[in-house]
Amino acid sequence: MQKVYLDNAATTVLDSAVWEEMKPYFLENYGNPSSSHFAGREAKAAVELARKKIASSIGALSSRLIFTSGATEANNLVFKFAQRDLGVQKVIVSPLEHHAVLNAAKAIFGDQIIYTKHNSCGVLDLVHLSRLISDNPNCLVSIMHINNEIGIINPIEKIAKICKQYKVLYHSDTVQSFAHVDVNLSQIEADFIVASAHKFHGPKGIGFLAFGQDFILTPDQYGGLQEKNLRAGTEAVPLIVGMSKALELHKKSLAEIEINDRKLKTYLVEELSKIEGVTFNAASDRLEGYLCSLINISLSKMFFNDMTLFTLDLNGIAISGGSACSSGAINGSHVLSYLNSNNDSIAIRVSFSKYTIQQDLDCFLIQLKGCQKANA
Ligand code: PLP
Repeated sequence: MQKVYLDNAATTVLDSAVWEEMKPYFLENYGNPSSSHFAGREAKAAVELARKKIASSIGALSSRLIFTSGATEANNLVFKFAQRDLGVQKVIVSPLEHHAVLNAAKAIFGDQIIYTKHNSCGVLDLVHLSRLISDNPNCLVSIMHINNEIGIINPIEKIAKICKQYKVLYHSDTVQSFAHVDVNLSQIEADFIVASAHKFHGPKGIGFLAFGQDFILTPDQYGGLQEKNLRAGTEAVPLIVGMSKALELHKKSLAEIEINDRKLKTYLVEELSKIEGVTFNAASDRLEGYLCSLINISLSKMFFNDMTLFTLDLNGIAISGGSACSSGAINGSHVLSYLNSNNDSIAIRVSFSKYTIQQDLDCFLIQLKGCQKANA
């Protein structure tokens, strides 16, 4: 059975060049960056070089970038810092955020959360947002760049400008951005952005938080003075080196990636439109304003079997149903339910990477057609 992986918004395969870059830091240069001998100095130099390269490629200062275990941790840190050290009393958050933002905001700000409004395609109401901000000074605004379920691209430069105008802090969960678009903090002018390397062919368990300005912050966990005294603990040297390499490779091929994504999305939208019972959720069939590597569809239960997701899985198709990258659960998606997508249908998210080819989509299409009731 041919296996087809179409769940790249959840995670991506490690690039072999990234693995090669990381290997020596597991096997040869395995020093602890805090050690003062040659092995420690080598490891420290590798970490600082990676920090410099990543910062320069995203338009940030290396003094304003800390490594974390991933985006979940980075998002949590933002809310903790904001509440504890930056005088933030309320958070304005989009109901379409990933749980790594929604649940962190709820846990840290309790009932001091205000939600933004979106139309049924997921488009943010900027007028409403401006009103919320002007009514709530001392707030933090948290609105993601690219939505992981429906692929809508939020106008983060505009959001950042509104936040600047009202002098409030802006955090953007930019996790889904790095694999597909050029992220430049100096253009966005956000106060906090985050990344997770496994979304762009880097290793799992490493990410970063980049700050748009200098803040005086207190440590999140206590121990050594690592990561600007904000995150104690020995640095994951091989993973940090791997993330830097993955970002470098990705940046180089962004133009090709976009061409491939567009070609594949155009093809898949065309083919899916021919299948009875398939509709596109939240205008995710569009090329403009939505990620070209992601499509979210509903399968009507009039035409599709209840076992469709299970059958696709058994036939070697890795796609996600419901809200994918929170826990692997296929419960209803909070994003689709906000957007009022058809509840009595089966939702599927298909997401490509730079390694996806048309044959992968053809395999998916064949299997999907095989799940139609008439063919069951
Ligand atoms: N934010 C978004 C938009 C995501 O898609 C994910 C994916 O899992 C995360 C946050 C969490 O990232 P991680 O699990 O790598 O910490």
